Amino acid sequence: MNAARDEMYARFWGVRGSIPVSDSRCARYGGNTSCVEVRCGESVLVFDAGTGLRPLGSALVGEGCRDVDLFLSHGHIDHVVGLPFFAFAYEPGNSLRVWSGHRAPESGATESGVRSLMSAPLLPITPDVFPAEVSFRDFSAGDELAPPCGVSIRTAPLRHPGGATGYRVEHAGCSICYVTDTEHDPEAPDENILALVAGADIMIYDAMFTDEDLPRHRGWGHSTWEEGARLCLAAGVRTYAIFHHAPERDDEALDRIGAAAGRMFPGSVVAREGMVLTP
Ligand SMILES: [Zn+2]
Ligand SMILES: [Zn+2]
Repeated sequence: MNAARDEMYARFWGVRGSIPVSDSRCARYGGNTSCVEVRCGESVLVFDAGTGLRPLGSALVGEGCRDVDLFLSHGHIDHVVGLPFFAFAYEPGNSLRVWSGHRAPESGATESGVRSLMSAPLLPITPDVFPAEVSFRDFSAGDELAPPCGVSIRTAPLRHPGGATGYRVEHAGCSICYVTDTEHDPEAPDENILALVAGADIMIYDAMFTDEDLPRHRGWGHSTWEEGARLCLAAGVRTYAIFHHAPERDDEALDRIGAAAGRMFPGSVVAREGMVLTP
């Protein structure tokens, strides 16, 4: 069997939530908003188009990549704002499929969301500027997806204002889950998420808040690093990547969260830009 064909990993290009930060105190973990590249052999999957999508685009063009599936958790600005700056889409002959499932498929929300971002007065360009072939794929959170690249993907609805989608990618017997932005009920774990991440090798999870912060932010649609650890313990996840860091969380604060999370769930890591996780 060809080893390269079966290789799977996740690489983090943006790990922040809400808004990018440019601050020397945040330099170690990085300031770009949500963007995670998942490689399944030769298939390139991207989760969210935050500002981390810009450097990823340059890297993909540099290696001559031609085909990308981009899966959006939802359409909030920190998850889509990198798309107009995605160098990959400016290369003629490239193929980009953009997927989302947080709205009813018949709403055409994937394309309309991108068009409302890429239009006046916010930007002087529309998606028609892309020389690449760009298509938009709507689905319902909960559907199983079969992108043309042949990778198998399960999805689940998340609890977030306007909806959001969690993903589980399966390849060569390994699994990586991407679960952001979502709010949990402190009384009981989210059964949709437990089922999605059961037995996964890696779960990337919205840890915007702490259990202590959460009562002041009910209804904001975000979870806590502690809830991520509890889900991993309950669902038998192997590695937990703490993700979607609050913009005010500096490197030292994230170090402290990482240490505390490691005591609660030894497979915890705090996601930072450039980090690569293999199942
Ligand atoms: Zn977000
Ligand atoms: Zn959001």
